[in-house]
Amino acid sequence: MSLEDAETFAVSLGWQKFRGEQIWRWVHAHGVRDVEQMTNLNKDTRAELAEKATIGSLTIAEQQVSTDGTRKLRLLTRDGQSIESVLIPDGEKTTQCISSQIGCAVNCQFCATAKLGLIRNLDAGEIVDQVYLARKLLEEVEPGRRISNIVYMGMGEPLHNYDNLIKSLQILCNDKGAKLAQRRVTVSTSGLVPKLEKLGLETVRPNLAVSLNAANDETRDEIMPINRKWNIGKLMAALKAYPLEQRRRITFEYVLLAGVNDSLRDAAQLAKLLRGVRCKVNLIPWNPHPEALYQRPSDAAITGFQNECKRLGLPTYLRTPRGDDIDAACGQLANRAKTADGSSAPLVPLRIRRERPGLPAVD
Ligand code: SAH
Ligand code: SF4
Repeated sequence: MSLEDAETFAVSLGWQKFRGEQIWRWVHAHGVRDVEQMTNLNKDTRAELAEKATIGSLTIAEQQVSTDGTRKLRLLTRDGQSIESVLIPDGEKTTQCISSQIGCAVNCQFCATAKLGLIRNLDAGEIVDQVYLARKLLEEVEPGRRISNIVYMGMGEPLHNYDNLIKSLQILCNDKGAKLAQRRVTVSTSGLVPKLEKLGLETVRPNLAVSLNAANDETRDEIMPINRKWNIGKLMAALKAYPLEQRRRITFEYVLLAGVNDSLRDAAQLAKLLRGVRCKVNLIPWNPHPEALYQRPSDAAITGFQNECKRLGLPTYLRTPRGDDIDAACGQLANRAKTADGSSAPLVPLRIRRERPGLPAVD
């Protein structure tokens, strides 16, 4: 429920409107999951509320902690599906990577989530509850550490679940709730042009990240079939028209695939394409998973690509893989959903042995 939904709900029960806000604040600002802890409600009100409403959509089924401190949470929905969310410590900051869908329909060829297909959208409650469960967990295991940034870069294409995306943003950024600063929230998309245009008109203003991954249509058509519908020209036109906040930049994600999009010529094309756009590029060396035919470029190729972009004036950062030992890095989220009867469907066999390339930390 949005704050307004909660107020309407209170009125529908014959209570005063402010009760709705009181309850909403308990849930969203304080993370209360039990009506009994809502101490400013009297006993009868609490009993009626417990009968009429449920709090929280998810439970933590499992957590894995990487050698670099990254935590991957497997969360269970009420209908017995699994989703994944990742907590990434970075100095003082902690970024949470949240999922917007179970699976994804976009079918990017290099991505493990794509292999699941789309199972279903998450509702707004399931999106925000990832943050609340992680917030509670951190309070217990690392007191003092708080979630500072949220990125919609987990499973799913957020703009394919537009209404729930917007509702979840409004809830998370509400000053009476979790109070996340809009500039600390980033929505990442594969580039759904009509929805991007719509997003630009919203009052809630998250940062925008776009998974570009290729600077020419031939390569992008091949690795991101969505490009056949909204090609680079249409995407760039929408982005150039996007109403960016002052002092903000669009982030372009560029997954480096050996022999596919990692040549110096690709770097030059990328720099040319993005000339004049207020942006930065995050290079993500491809994270391996089975079922994909790609390879991560050599360290030399990665550095060469980055240097070429920089030489041509494009601000370019290398993302070191975080949590890749527990398959929590970009593009590795692909746990199989639990079946409806609660039994565990087989997990995609994600873990494979490989050399850790030891990339330098940048950005
Ligand atoms: N669906 C959204 C957000 C989730 S994907 C989107 O595509 O933007 C988050 C990022 O992971 C995207 O930039 C995607 O290009 C990247 N990614 C997907 N698979 C990857 C892999 N195997 N290795 C590295 N990055 C990957
Ligand atoms: Fe979906 Fe993003 Fe993976 Fe593409 S990269 S399949 S849009 S989750």
